[in-house]
Amino acid sequence: MTALPSLFISHGAPTFALEPGLAGPQLTALGQVLPKPAAVLVVSPHWMTATALVSTSAKPATIHDFGGFDPALYRISYPAPGHPGLAQRAVTLLREAGWPAKPDEGRGLDHGAWVPLTFLFPDAQVPTFQVSMPARLDSASAFAFGKALSPLASEGVLIIGSGSLTHNLHEFRGHHGDAQPYAAEFAAWVREAVEQGDTARLVRTLDDAPHARRAHPTPEHFWPLLVAAGAAPATNPVQVIEGGVTHGVLSMDSFVFGHHAPH
Ligand code: ZN
Repeated sequence: MTALPSLFISHGAPTFALEPGLAGPQLTALGQVLPKPAAVLVVSPHWMTATALVSTSAKPATIHDFGGFDPALYRISYPAPGHPGLAQRAVTLLREAGWPAKPDEGRGLDHGAWVPLTFLFPDAQVPTFQVSMPARLDSASAFAFGKALSPLASEGVLIIGSGSLTHNLHEFRGHHGDAQPYAAEFAAWVREAVEQGDTARLVRTLDDAPHARRAHPTPEHFWPLLVAAGAAPATNPVQVIEGGVTHGVLSMDSFVFGHHAPH
């Protein structure tokens, strides 16, 4: 079987579900050209646990894990089935790589998973499960974490790291004007590292990139990019989905790693 590509998707704010902007239609178009996956695996910063957990529910609930947004967002459900078998396989692979992972039968899909999936697979037919981010993650180990999951890409699983290319929510709340240049500058630096397949540079982003601390006051929304890069069947070719900057400070750019990789 040809390995599926891995994806980094910027989910920005929950309002993305109601405001597709530039990114939404491009994700829908991507979902139509990707080989149909047996399952989708999402790593989202909205599920962080002491040690890695994998959702093994056959019927994961839609979790509305945010407060103070448009009531319409709380009425959205994403009724994709789970895939207990492939989820259990993820548990096994993580354990083999030294991550003490455990199944979690009760966990549903958080908005880091279902918001982008409402665009990528709007019919909610592809079985979906999540893997939590363990507390001991840092940039280097986030890449290794993705690498540990990468065999699944050859077993029909589409691995998605869902985060946000820039994610300063303090400025999000306070900003109502044009896109802040720093967000685009940071995003451009990362894009160059991604396009060059420069893993070492990518792993050092939060230390080396311009405005890194401002773009990511905390690192959890950046790590899914490293998970996706680590899970990629090949670092090239990379497809860039230009999502622009929403709310003045949230870069919505996404990446597809290894889209045409032969295996
Ligand atoms: Zn988020």
